[in-house]
Amino acid sequence: MRINFILKCSVCGEENYLTEKNKRNTPDRLEQKKYCPRCKKTTLHKEKTKK
Ligand SMILES: [Zn+2]
Repeated sequence: MRINFILKCSVCGEENYLTEKNKRNTPDRLEQKKYCPRCKKTTLHKEKTKK
């Protein structure tokens, strides 16, 4: 079961990345360090599930 979700910058709230994961293998909320073009630096991005 794969679900799409958005990785959202935790600093400015910009939704920068659309990705997918297997919910069975990865049940926890993802938090990844990714580059945010609005902040112009690498920030912590948090999962926002697309319903
Ligand atoms: Zn940002």
